[in-house]
Amino acid sequence: MTFTADRRLRRLGLGAVLALWGAAARAGDFNPALPPELKLGFAILSRTAGRAPAAAGPALRCDPKVSRRMCGIVEGDLAFLRSVWGKSSSDLQKSVFGPLAGSVYLAWLAARVKTVGVDYRVADAVAYTQPPLYPEKILLTRAYASAAHPQIARISVLLHEARHMEVKGRYWSHVRCPVPFRDARGEDMLSFWTGENLSGQPACDRTAVGAYGIEVIMLRNVSRYCLTCGGKVRMDADLYARDAFNRIIDSAAVETLRRDVY
Ligand SMILES: [Zn+2]
Repeated sequence: MTFTADRRLRRLGLGAVLALWGAAARAGDFNPALPPELKLGFAILSRTAGRAPAAAGPALRCDPKVSRRMCGIVEGDLAFLRSVWGKSSSDLQKSVFGPLAGSVYLAWLAARVKTVGVDYRVADAVAYTQPPLYPEKILLTRAYASAAHPQIARISVLLHEARHMEVKGRYWSHVRCPVPFRDARGEDMLSFWTGENLSGQPACDRTAVGAYGIEVIMLRNVSRYCLTCGGKVRMDADLYARDAFNRIIDSAAVETLRRDVY
């Protein structure tokens, strides 16, 4: 009996601690002490941004299946994202994300994603989400950690997946790409990431502000306006924006993006 009561009290105590932790974490008051390998770059949200408004939000965690190496890669990506800043930005950048600032992107991500997991069985994708089965969780594949892809492109994948968390946008589901799906030179459209022929694949969008569209918006804003980014980052951003832009198959959406960021 005493043992049961004690357990109940301890449960109550633990519950109270967790509730307080949740409230404080939401308010951005402190960073809970976690093993470093389980704490990702969102922890930096609690710091005050230099030129942009301070963002708030809980830390993004790696689940226990994520290797230390993979977790470190994501942490590095988010740390770099925080450094992004530009004085100017496009209209769609402002309406979707806000000003061109790392803290703005991090807050946008933190509002949608809490956890990173892995699925090493998947070979034809870089990352995926399964809301509402796994709400607020991004699953990364081996391709995410491939040295073949630049950091700014990996970051755009995180934003892409975060867009899929939005219930309001019906998760911004993709549509099938045309069959055949060829570029202006008559060449098959291939994924920059996997080399897969995109013809007939559910890897296209009809909207300018879906998961691919917001990749274009972020990458082109970085390419055009980021003052803290080096030349290689801006070139990488421009290159991978092309992959996402190719997947927009509605002419009005293409024109909207072209006017905004090209
Ligand atoms: Zn997607």
